[in-house]
Parts: sequence; C-alpha cells; structure tokens
Amino acid sequence: TTLLDFRDVQLTYPNGTIALSGVDLRVDRGEFVTVVGPSGCGKSTLLRIASGLEQASHGDAAVATDRVGYVFQDATLLPWRDVQTNVELLAELQWQTKAERRAKAKQAIDLVGLTGFEKHLPRQLSGGMRMRTSLARSLTLDPELFLFDEPFGALDEITREYLNDELLKLFAARRFGGLFITHSVSEAVYLSTKVIVMSGRPGRIVDAFDVPFPMPRD
Ligand code: ADP
Ligand code: ADP
Repeated sequence: TTLLDFRDVQLTYPNGTIALSGVDLRVDRGEFVTVVGPSGCGKSTLLRIASGLEQASHGDAAVATDRVGYVFQDATLLPWRDVQTNVELLAELQWQTKAERRAKAKQAIDLVGLTGFEKHLPRQLSGGMRMRTSLARSLTLDPELFLFDEPFGALDEITREYLNDELLKLFAARRFGGLFITHSVSEAVYLSTKVIVMSGRPGRIVDAFDVPFPMPRD
C-alpha cells in the first residue's frame, strides 16, 4: 500500500521563497525512507506538506491515511504534565474515552521503555527520555505513516544511537511507513530501507538509493 505519493511537488512560501521544486517521492507501508541534505534544502518543508501543515503550491501531494504521526526535533512536552498525561494528550484531543487513552498510553509507554516513569515531569527526564515520551504520544494514534523531523538531532551521540535502535524495534513492532529527516548520512543508512538526497535552493531530489543491506527489522 502506498501511504504517501508526491508528484512534482513545489512549495512557494508567501514571501516568495521557493523551498521545494519538482519533488517526486513515495512511501509504502513497511518502508522507512530517510531524507538527507544540507540546511535549507527544504527537508522540513517536505515534512510539513506531508503532515498537512503546509499545502503544495504546485503538483500533487497525496497522503493516503489519516493516521499520521509527527515527531519534531523538540519534544514539545507540556512541562506541567507528567509522562502519563503528556502521552495521553493526543488521544485526549481525539475525544477517546479515559479508559481507552489510559490503555493506549500504557501500551505506548511500554513500547518506548518508559514504564515506571509515568509520574515523572519532563524536567525530571533526560533528553532521550523526553524524546521517547514524545514518540509514545504519537504512537497512541496508531500511525500508519510516521514523520520524523530530526527527532534525535539535539541529543548526544550515544543516546542518539540508542534511540535509533529503539526506533528500529518500534518499526518492527508496528510496521508503519516512515519518513525520517536527518543531516547524518550514516544515521540515514542505519535506519532506512531507502535514502533520498536533497540539495539546492529551491530544494530538489538529486539522488535516491535503496540501502543495500538494511538493518533487520523483525
Ligand atoms: P531544511 O529543513 O532542509 O533546513 P526548510 O524546509 O526549513 O529546509 O527551508 C527551506 C527553505 O525555505 C529555506 O530557504 C528557508 O529559509 C525557507 N523557509 C522555511 N520556512 C519558511 C517560511 N515560513 N517562510 C519563508 N521561507 C521559509
Ligand atoms: P536515555 O535518555 O536514552 O534514556 P540516558 O543516558 O539519558 O539515556 O539515561 C539512561 C537511564 O538512566 C534511563 O533509561 C533511566 O533509567 C535513567 N535515568 C535518566 N535520567 C533519569 C532521571 N531523571 N530520573 C531517573 N532515572 C533517570
């Protein structure tokens, strides 16, 4: 199943900046696609279109599911809520019942390895744990398509490698389609089944390759 299908996508911001041009990109279920490229080449813009935060100015940007998860570089947790209630937030906004969201949150917290930390506030957590809380919050929506905008970019290298392994495990457990943005080519190759290289202003796709020996994910 194709979850995301972009054809000849262009985006021009209101100030006239053309951020993206002629982008063709597909993500199928079970695929984990990473996008690498230097700052300013339109990677975030691409993800913002995929998540519906921006609309393509030209071309066709189809997303074939309404279950889209989105994780930013900043974990964006509410500081006054503990892990449990931060994770429940999205389910709450979807009007799930209290019992439903409790169960969803418990499962997600377990999946990211935060069981036992439910009552901790964000400031009592390490950066990696905050990011895992943010991941868990997105997981409560059972996303079919998961969008990651440099989620581990602000973390130290050891935590980052650890979380990359966690993400591979999550992917194996949930089999979502993934679209992951990073500056790091090694991270891209480690995580993905396919790497897309973007460059230039406006940003274009300049190369794409299947990872020859993707990490096992089941
Ligand atoms: P990347 O994520 O690869 O760093 P971005 O998608 O953030 O790239 O930005 C692509 C281009 O669009 C850059 O030239 C950036 O300055 C510009 N840009 C990003 N957001 C806006 C905006 N809201 N308004 C105008 N220009 C923007
Ligand atoms: P990560 O962020 O990937 O969990 P860390 O090195 O930051 O890795 O933390 C390693 C472990 O230390 C955590 O999994 C947790 O068990 C414990 N830990 C970290 N921060 C705290 C904290 N604020 N309170 C209690 N335990 C913590």
